[in-house]
Amino acid sequence: MQPIGLLIEFKGGQIKPANFGMATAARAENRQLVALVVDTPANDAKAALEAYGVTRVVNIRTDSNGWNPAVHAAAVVAAMQENGITTLIGLTSPTGRELLPRVAARLDAPLVMDCIDIDLDAHRVKTSQYSGKTIATISMTGSHFIYGMRANVVAPEEAPAAAEVIDFPFAADQGSGFEVIETRTDGSGSQHLAESDIIISGGRGLKNAENFKLLFDCARHLNAAVGASRVAVDNGWVPYAMQVGQTGVKVNPKVYMAVGISGSIQHFAGMKTAKTVIAINTDAKAAIMANCDYFVVGDLFDILPALEKALASVKR
Ligand SMILES: Cc1cc2nc3c(=O)[nH]c(=O)nc-3n(C[C@H](O)[C@H](O)[C@H](O)COP(=O)(O)OP(=O)(O)OC[C@H]3O[C@@H](n4cnc5c(N)ncnc54)[C@H](O)[C@@H]3O)c2cc1C
Repeated sequence: MQPIGLLIEFKGGQIKPANFGMATAARAENRQLVALVVDTPANDAKAALEAYGVTRVVNIRTDSNGWNPAVHAAAVVAAMQENGITTLIGLTSPTGRELLPRVAARLDAPLVMDCIDIDLDAHRVKTSQYSGKTIATISMTGSHFIYGMRANVVAPEEAPAAAEVIDFPFAADQGSGFEVIETRTDGSGSQHLAESDIIISGGRGLKNAENFKLLFDCARHLNAAVGASRVAVDNGWVPYAMQVGQTGVKVNPKVYMAVGISGSIQHFAGMKTAKTVIAINTDAKAAIMANCDYFVVGDLFDILPALEKALASVKR
């Protein structure tokens, strides 16, 4: 059985749901799924991981005081070596972007981030390039393989298994040379875009920062994340972490709502794989209107309050 390492991420003490899609994608008869859990009580996670076919949970405990990507990457590499893991899959999330390249560098291994399809036997992946205009197929060679998956590209499917939990204490030898002095949240108050099933994004049509409240009000009822076009970010209305597009986050939600966004090529590059796109725009000829599943021609300042009222009246 080939052990496949899954780098597990948590939010608010819970495993991020996108990890279960990752486990589903990695599962095969000839493989053993090994979850690597760093500095989080793995016993709590065991049952959730077992439901998706994980048979070993490695409970990595480092001596770092909180988040430290250098120490955590060294610990992940040590745990991989201890467990005979040559293939590691993580999410293309902020944490994944910090850890996976460090792991790959330590192992001198090839790394592809933002994979939308992974063939673990052939070491071949698909990832979008050139603003999503082409899909590249990349073959990797080496002794180790590191993959960053785009969240939500594979729907989680349960396959219950029994898992053992192994403790793996790790002490960084001579210190990491890396100290986290301060951590600030992005201020968006929103869940991370790439992992959300529903995203409501706003653009220049929102006119200012305050009006983004209209989007957050609707998003709350749908457990949705709020995104933005680059114009909204460049104007300082919302933080960069909310930008969707070529130079922002690439998302793959079930529903993407573009409000007051024209639908530039660069914006599409970040959301074109959304399953359903809904646009709200005053201009029936805006590019987004020709490239969406549903649209409303109208003023967002009329539509969003009405939508919020309708959503609030729905019993869940
Ligand atoms: C190298 C490069 C990288 C880039 N990367 C990105 C990126 O990652 N993400 C990104 O988004 N952009 C990116 N851009 C910028 C991109 O080209 C566009 O300028 C930007 O996407 C436009 O944002 P927008 O749709 O909000 O604004 P606009 O194009 O100005 O569109 C605003 C829309 O709002 C509508 N509207 C106005 N008022 C209302 C109302 N009251 N109700 C309803 N609708 C209304 C208008 O009809 C219009 O369609 C990049 C550009 C370059 C050159």
